[in-house]
Amino acid sequence: MRASRLMGPKDVRVEEVPDPVISSPESAVIDVTVTAICGADLTSYWGYVPGFEWGTIMGHEFVGVVRQVGDDVKTVKPGDRVMVSSMTSCGRCWYCRHGMQPQCENRALFGFSGAYPRLDGGQAEHALIPNADRDLWPLPDTVSDEAAVFVADILSTAYRGVERAALSCGDDVAIVGCGPLGLMAIMVARLAAGRILALDTVPARLEAAESLGAIPIVADEAAIARVKDLTAGRGVDAVIECAGGAPALTTAMQLARPRGMVSVIGAHFEPDFCLDAGAMFANETTLSISIGAPTDDREEVLRLVETGRVDPVPVISHRMKLDEAAEAYRMFEAREAMKIILTP
Ligand SMILES: [Zn+2]
Ligand SMILES: [Zn+2]
Repeated sequence: MRASRLMGPKDVRVEEVPDPVISSPESAVIDVTVTAICGADLTSYWGYVPGFEWGTIMGHEFVGVVRQVGDDVKTVKPGDRVMVSSMTSCGRCWYCRHGMQPQCENRALFGFSGAYPRLDGGQAEHALIPNADRDLWPLPDTVSDEAAVFVADILSTAYRGVERAALSCGDDVAIVGCGPLGLMAIMVARLAAGRILALDTVPARLEAAESLGAIPIVADEAAIARVKDLTAGRGVDAVIECAGGAPALTTAMQLARPRGMVSVIGAHFEPDFCLDAGAMFANETTLSISIGAPTDDREEVLRLVETGRVDPVPVISHRMKLDEAAEAYRMFEAREAMKIILTP
């Protein structure tokens, strides 16, 4: 089959590799129909993931049709349209049994190696799914492949981030970072929020946020003062940090009002971030960090898509062939594209 593999920093190649085969009675093989490139893919693309095995097949956002199942698979059968949770989990460990899928003792992220055990991903014609009854979920006819690819990862992550922000109806919410994840957070937050203040430095991202009903704010030195002006000097009720990295978290911590929530869903790898515990104590600030839990949350998130309450598809800016993956990664890294879909 054809597969997009990362052979070294910024070296994506689509090459012929052996077809995956059933590896255990719990596993399945699917034909991938739609796959997407995620900001998280860039960390390995840049060579930032210690221990990454060059040659790993990329991609943790994908949907498809079941091709073959192991003897113990009960919930899906060949021919079923399915979404794949971006992270595999065992369903048996203490964390899985208590509804904490992202902390599964046997977790692995599709398309990654190093940080987790190697698990080849879905930017390929076919993919091996290790724990099909956990990782796969049948798709209703009313949810398109393109919509479902968001449920597999970033829309579910945004959903968890909004849930952890504990919004009351009508709250003022700030979204820090209006890439695809931030736009998903706006779509979910607006189901409850009063005003949404969207911060970014990229004009096209601010325009996209505005088209979803958010108030665009250029994330420069004056941004915090502007947010305070709009909120009678207090700051917002809740902040959802969707960009990752220390500068975004620093901004997020300054935007929340006293007794406010800071819900982080951007990715962080910096080990030495300095929190102002004195200010957090004085202001009774709550800081919450979530990886996203598509296996735990997919039914609720799919319902939002099925009912039309959330439509992630307009965030797709480019539709390309799997064979164009190297060019797609280049465009995505250069921020020439908002969200790229690849089809095998
Ligand atoms: Zn992702
Ligand atoms: Zn587990």
